Amino acid sequence: MSKKDSKQELRKIFNNTVLVGLLLAVSAIWLAVAARPDNLLHIYFCDVGQGDAILIKTPQKRQILVDGGPGDRVLKCLSEALPFYDHTLDLLILTHPHADHVGGLIDVLRTYQVEKVVFQQTPYKSADYQEFIDLLEEEGLPTFKVVKGEILALDQQTRAEIWYPLSENELELLGASIDPYDGEDVNDSSIVFRLVCGDFEALLTGDAPEQVQKLLLEQGMVKESAILKVGHQGAKDGCDEGFLKKVNPELAVISVGANNRYGHPHQETLEEIKNAGVELKRTDQDGTVEVISDCKTWWVK
Ligand SMILES: [Zn+2]
Repeated sequence: MSKKDSKQELRKIFNNTVLVGLLLAVSAIWLAVAARPDNLLHIYFCDVGQGDAILIKTPQKRQILVDGGPGDRVLKCLSEALPFYDHTLDLLILTHPHADHVGGLIDVLRTYQVEKVVFQQTPYKSADYQEFIDLLEEEGLPTFKVVKGEILALDQQTRAEIWYPLSENELELLGASIDPYDGEDVNDSSIVFRLVCGDFEALLTGDAPEQVQKLLLEQGMVKESAILKVGHQGAKDGCDEGFLKKVNPELAVISVGANNRYGHPHQETLEEIKNAGVELKRTDQDGTVEVISDCKTWWVK
């Protein structure tokens, strides 16, 4: 190679390096701009297969994860919804300890810096749940239980109104047949809360079955909500007709895996939603469902 050739070769390498550098810088800026806070409320019903994982980003940049689904698919949802440099969650809420809600939280606790955790400490034996509890202890994370009537301020405009579980005292006074504290059917222990920001509401029900929904109806607890996360992957017991009428949602979301062995969602539940004239989104058909609100109105991305 002549001196001239090698100079040209060097220049070529230099130009290519500059080009790659520029491309990387533009991509980083684009990603950061795409993920920048926009003062809107975002709810991501993550497509995690058969289970629930719901990420809430409040207008004032609080990041709350409700359940983690099974496996590690929740990590993909989080990485797509949050800026690539952001590995923080202000609050983690576990509705109840079944594997299709707690499983993914193990990876989340290992990958994300979590500030606080809400869960009911329901007595329940499973390897996933035990690992979750061990990790919380290892990391010394502050944990909290919740009970009906409590309000969690998520930011200055956004709050979570806890509807369920009722306190042990209240359940006893009512003579209720459900015991969310005994660890027998832990769907009965699902935290149910309504997320409220201005005029917008979304009701998250975990796997709360019909008998819990009926109890809430009897208690006069049930209020309207624009969005309803249908209980228990749209199972037969996931959607009481009276409850659905009272909530009167504009959009119902079912978080469910394609061709799951449980036959979720159940045909009856789908018909109830259809007959009520409610729009339906399903994570098995629509992928991750992102609802956005300016705390007045809402839309699906
Ligand atoms: Zn469950």
